[in-house]
Amino acid sequence: MNSSFLQTPIDFLKGVGPNRADLLRKELGIQTYQDLLNLFPNRYLDRTKYYKIAELQRNSSDVQIVGKIIGLKEIQQKRGKRLVAKFKDSTGEMELVWFRGQKWIRENLKLNTDYVIFGKVNWFNNTFSMPHPDLELLVEHKQNIRSAMQPIYPSTEKLTNKGLTNRVLSKIMQQLFLETKGKFSETLSEELLSKFKMLSKSDALLNIHFPKSQALLSKAEFRLKFEELFFIQLQLILKNLIHKSKIKGFNFERVGPLFNTFYNSHLPFELTNAQKRVIKEIRYDLGSNAQMNRLLQGDVGSGKTIVALMSMLIGVDNGFQTCLMAPTEILSVQHYNGLLEYCNKLNISIKLLTGSTKTSKRKEIHESLENGDLNILIGTHALLEDKVKFKNLGLAIIDEQHRFGVAQRSKLWRKNITPPHILVMTATPIPRTLAMSVYGDLDISIIDELPAGRKPVKTVHRYDNNRLKVFRFIRDEIAKGRQIYIVYPLIQESEKMDYKDLMDGYASIEREFPKPEYQISIVHGKMKSSDKDFEMQRFIKGETQIMVATTVIEVGVDVPNASVMIIESAERFGLSQLHQLRGRVGRGAEQSYCILMTSHKLSNDSKIRLETMVHSNDGFEIAEVDLKLRGPGDIMGTQQSGVLNLRIANIVKDKDILAEARYMAKKILSSDPGLLAIKNKNILNTYKQMAKYKNIWNYIS
Ligand code: ADP
Ligand code: MG
Repeated sequence: MNSSFLQTPIDFLKGVGPNRADLLRKELGIQTYQDLLNLFPNRYLDRTKYYKIAELQRNSSDVQIVGKIIGLKEIQQKRGKRLVAKFKDSTGEMELVWFRGQKWIRENLKLNTDYVIFGKVNWFNNTFSMPHPDLELLVEHKQNIRSAMQPIYPSTEKLTNKGLTNRVLSKIMQQLFLETKGKFSETLSEELLSKFKMLSKSDALLNIHFPKSQALLSKAEFRLKFEELFFIQLQLILKNLIHKSKIKGFNFERVGPLFNTFYNSHLPFELTNAQKRVIKEIRYDLGSNAQMNRLLQGDVGSGKTIVALMSMLIGVDNGFQTCLMAPTEILSVQHYNGLLEYCNKLNISIKLLTGSTKTSKRKEIHESLENGDLNILIGTHALLEDKVKFKNLGLAIIDEQHRFGVAQRSKLWRKNITPPHILVMTATPIPRTLAMSVYGDLDISIIDELPAGRKPVKTVHRYDNNRLKVFRFIRDEIAKGRQIYIVYPLIQESEKMDYKDLMDGYASIEREFPKPEYQISIVHGKMKSSDKDFEMQRFIKGETQIMVATTVIEVGVDVPNASVMIIESAERFGLSQLHQLRGRVGRGAEQSYCILMTSHKLSNDSKIRLETMVHSNDGFEIAEVDLKLRGPGDIMGTQQSGVLNLRIANIVKDKDILAEARYMAKKILSSDPGLLAIKNKNILNTYKQMAKYKNIWNYIS
């Protein structure tokens, strides 16, 4: 069916008319034939099975029986009348009951004629009865297009009240299939159809609305899900290809002396294989003439910083400036301090710019950026300010991406006429499948290996009334020379209660761990950043043994000697946050521990989160559970990506189909990037429609 016909307004469909059209538009957003066609049922009543009366169970719903009505009587009750029919098949008898609409039934019912009844059965007065059965003459039932599984469409109260019931909607849908003769143009290639033994477009649509069997319904679902995901992937991959061919990037031709000197003489440890692989991927991108747009995923502690440094060295080796942006002041300071040492050894300049950088210092930085003296700039989003101008920014790295948005990424882009290479680093592992659809426009590198010798953090869940034991444990660990984090939830910096909890907690810890034997740092969002930094530094230097903090320490802090992470009210944290916090320990050679403290009142989801933390240290596994609990809506970036607008596929449940669809889209484009081959013409035609109609389902039909 050609697509312009399907753009016909719904008013023109027989049986719709202006009133119903209006309702459909307002209540379900259905404007055109196309929209109606894409109103997929929420579920189906299985009418493939026929029961015998002798087989009935008490309280079975969705029961369908063939039989005859052999008698009809009216029974007077306290409140009105009820109409009762005696219904019979070869195995027994039962009753059909109406409390309303009796006149119509009496006048239209045919006695001793085969009917198909459908509904819920009750056991009442020692007989089975079906109130208000769905009733259809067997002869009509046989001819009916919806004779197998009955679709139940999404509806609203208003629709039902105004008579646009499910039954009417099905009728309208049948009319649509009659008018279109059920012929819809194929959107996929013969190759794809036969490879996955998929139904044709027409058969898939017919069977999604009026499945002839459960098996055909499954096939229809697969076909439509595949198609939906395939075209999204196709679009993302094409965008990426076009980007690469159009957006020229700086070519970092050589891996020069800085990189090599660092690698040969200053690397403090052997790189993991994953780090080596990732650096190779980045090096390849940087020298490929196209602008790099890469996402680096690696669990907390997997060693992303060194990858960032080595990438920046390649930039500097090629005469460019580079920058590294982190989401918090503390983290920027830590990056700066960590990298300063290496930069001094290599004799290159590095500076730190944050919100609290003094004006005089700031001026100095601005100058050295503009005249090209400065090689590496580290900082917070202060880097994004317009005043910050680079002479030649060649590579921008963003750490812990979940705190930054896409808008900020593009702001970095515009710091040059030729956009710099961009590397986004995140410790929030997104399951690969989701990453593929969310970040289809980014290339992805994954560090899936922790440095050797790391012992997995032992995680336990303890209730508040075990606190004394926990204190004893802390004392023992401190006696061994270790340091401890105690973290309180502070979801909103403004929440008074959380602040009070933190202060009460601090007071009780001070009582339990008195000075001068014990020294305690405290860091929270209400402090001035210089104070925060002071406290943080005391802990980093080992002057304090306990760090009481809110989640400001969540991101990136590195204190290898800290071996215990205690999370208070752990039930209030999300899974990825818990995992991030736990990642603060287990960085040294010592056995580390994470203790999740909660009250006894736990929701089911909280229990799942806590159990997941206790049994798994694998960020990707944890991310999968998180995704199942929360759905993709809360995961970063998904809002912009359109994965939420999926009509039939589900990004979590259908990840296997997504993987197939992506693989095929890639494969097809790699041999035929312009989709010009005859065999791909359906795909090309469909793809062209994408430009015309915004909604994906407008173009895939
Ligand atoms: P993240 O990926 O969380 O940013 P970091 O880059 O902060 O991780 O690295 C965590 C710790 O592991 C740091 O102390 C770092 O020096 C160390 N590290 C990184 N790579 C290695 C390695 N290959 N071998 C040993 N230690 C490493
Ligand atoms: Mg980090």
